[in-house]
Amino acid sequence: MGQTHKRLEFVVLLVALLLGMAQSASAANDVNAESDEFSYHQVNDGETLGTIAMHYQVGIDQLLEWNDLESVHIEPETTLVVKSSEEVRGSSEPLPVIHVIRRGDTFEGIARRYGVTIRQVQRWNRRLNPRRLQLGQQVRLHIPGADGKSVSYGRANGGRLYNGVAMQTTPGMRVRNVARSYGTRRVVQLLQAAGADVQARWPDAPDLIVGSLSVRNGGRLRPHRSHQSGRDVDLTYYHRGNVALPDFRNMSVETFDAVKNWHMYKVLIDSGQVEYMFVDYRLQKPLYEYALSIGYTPEELEPLLQYPRGRNVSAGIIRHSRGHLNHVHIRFTCGPQDRNCH
Ligand SMILES: [Zn+2]
Repeated sequence: MGQTHKRLEFVVLLVALLLGMAQSASAANDVNAESDEFSYHQVNDGETLGTIAMHYQVGIDQLLEWNDLESVHIEPETTLVVKSSEEVRGSSEPLPVIHVIRRGDTFEGIARRYGVTIRQVQRWNRRLNPRRLQLGQQVRLHIPGADGKSVSYGRANGGRLYNGVAMQTTPGMRVRNVARSYGTRRVVQLLQAAGADVQARWPDAPDLIVGSLSVRNGGRLRPHRSHQSGRDVDLTYYHRGNVALPDFRNMSVETFDAVKNWHMYKVLIDSGQVEYMFVDYRLQKPLYEYALSIGYTPEELEPLLQYPRGRNVSAGIIRHSRGHLNHVHIRFTCGPQDRNCH
């Protein structure tokens, strides 16, 4: 009887926590909450909805909605509403959560369940003796994401995702399976912005197909090893002649659109938030040659591209990995909200 009661208590706590999370998330999306939080931006030459979204760290879908726009094409000198994202305002320590000890609980099991380390559980609960836990005792935990912010936790090969945002189809990006399209808000917004930027500059550019990011709470996503913490994405390549691909298709030097692919990768890399990109070595050649043709020097390209140093040389943000002839895999850096991230 006591056991059932404790279990119920735990469930109630968890539900309260989840409700709190949902509430703070919807508060963050509520544009009308406070009018003094609006800010405006006058569009300059050379800017697109994509670069503006990136600059203010907001979503393309948000910009479209706030400004009642139907496409990403905007005239210069238009004034746009650009509310700065909740996400970028100071990272706060995750809120404490209480776990009530049930039969069979150990610090190890609790740590695993909440995605924190045993050492952390010990540090937050110095008064408790891990070898003498008693039913009903309260364990204090600081769960990442309890404040409603998205958090990439741990390694991309074995981490988790808290408060992930499902990437939706936006101009320039077509999401194939929303259930596998969860990333941190920062990652999702960056991708949307990059897709919109290409579409704004080349109105005939097809949408890219978004393959996997992560599942809702992160963790294993077959057949991938990574894609576990909301910082990885698979994307199709732009095909020459603005051919819209129905699915992932192997590219060749002849079909690969070096102009648009280079532009998108450069925009993402310039955001400072890309750790690396896997692109088949054969496709790096047209990227390299195109970049030279528009004025980059080999020295400038050295940190960006592995080519022409050979596919086995570990160098360059854009580098070879097997299986990337039909899609690019992008790994984003750890963001300021992320925890234990590496
Ligand atoms: Zn991948």
